[in-house]
Amino acid sequence: MSLIVQKFGGSSVSDAEGVKRVARRIVEAKNQGHDVVVVVSAMGDTTDELLDLAAEVNNGAQASRELDMLLTAGERISMSVLAIAIHGLGATAQSFTGSQAGIITDGVHGSARLVEVHPDRIRESLDAGNIAIVAGFQGMNRQTRDITTLGRGGSDTTAVALASALGADFCEIYSDVDGVFTADPRIVNTAHKLNEVSSEEMLEMAANGAKILHLRCVEYARRFKIKLHVRSSFSDLEGTWVIPNSTDADADGHDLTKEIPLEQPLISGVAHDRTQAKITVVDVPDVPGYASKIFGSLNDAKINLDMIVQNVSTRSEARTDISFTLPQDQGDEALEVLEKVQDDIGFASIEYNDAIGKLSLVGAGMKSNPGVSFQFFDALSKAGVNIDMISTSEIRISVITRADLLDQAVRAVHTAFNLDSETEATVYGGTGR
Ligand code: ASP
Ligand code: MG
Repeated sequence: MSLIVQKFGGSSVSDAEGVKRVARRIVEAKNQGHDVVVVVSAMGDTTDELLDLAAEVNNGAQASRELDMLLTAGERISMSVLAIAIHGLGATAQSFTGSQAGIITDGVHGSARLVEVHPDRIRESLDAGNIAIVAGFQGMNRQTRDITTLGRGGSDTTAVALASALGADFCEIYSDVDGVFTADPRIVNTAHKLNEVSSEEMLEMAANGAKILHLRCVEYARRFKIKLHVRSSFSDLEGTWVIPNSTDADADGHDLTKEIPLEQPLISGVAHDRTQAKITVVDVPDVPGYASKIFGSLNDAKINLDMIVQNVSTRSEARTDISFTLPQDQGDEALEVLEKVQDDIGFASIEYNDAIGKLSLVGAGMKSNPGVSFQFFDALSKAGVNIDMISTSEIRISVITRADLLDQAVRAVHTAFNLDSETEATVYGGTGR
């Protein structure tokens, strides 16, 4: 008998009908003879609604411990409602909070990291013949004995962590689209579903705005060699397999590399991100030590930097501009930090812009195809999109554009690399919130 971990996102369980549909699907897997562990997110947009509620009662800084208590309530509702729906179908299910399921984290509220996973109670529940349902996105810290959350979208990570700890062969991630697409089907309706993608490429896509999988879920799956099957809870179609591309074998001695096609397609997709802002520090003295002072102060404030660009100074007075991108919600904090060090460092001014978008082209095949960058910039130029910043990795090229040109840029690049399909992609549910 095999053990399956199935994770259902909020849009799959947005109302009673959705919960019943998902419950039928789970019972079907159980009736096929599998042990089934289910990880569930909060129903629909519950998490956002709870955050709105907190902001209504206090529009200042909210205590992160209390926010975690509040948000974890969302998953408590969905897990128990799902168990009740399964009972209605004549099967038995037991729901568990993250701490009951042995998800132990560090103490960082709002973005806790997993420290240990001890799913003893889940094992016992399965051995007693139950379907085990676990609240996603939450855990507990042993030192503080407080409840924590793993960060937005963290249920994917709960699922893969349980799959690994319970020795599941793979982990199914159910959402409201048929799998991983070559671009967000909400923007490019001719995007096509990938049958497989390497975890290396999936990491780049998730890190650059693809919301289909939580970044840490992909990292975890890659590290512990768990295959992910991303699929829709609204259809029976085969989804996308995310395959760890390590040369090592998995726990059963099964050579994972054999499952990767020998000739990978050139490009696996176009990701976009609208959550970044750009800061330019103007007229920084172009002598050793100044970049270190700027980034040192940002580091002390735990600002998450992404792209960084500095030009050689062409002006005689040896001054240069340094630009970088960061999450919009850290913008105010970063500006404050820089204003404090302005006199000491002696730069002229700071510019802030959050009307930007980031577009990334991802594909393992670009390593050995030097023509990709030209084709990429050519597509953007023909679409009339101006480029603000550029960064690359071995398998990715990213640019910053104006926010209002981002969708059009994504479509142009998608078309230029022949990624368009003849048929329209289906988006089954979700508000995209
Ligand atoms: N409910 C949480 C969120 O909306 C966790 C998740 O959906 O994975 O971010
Ligand atoms: Mg959610």
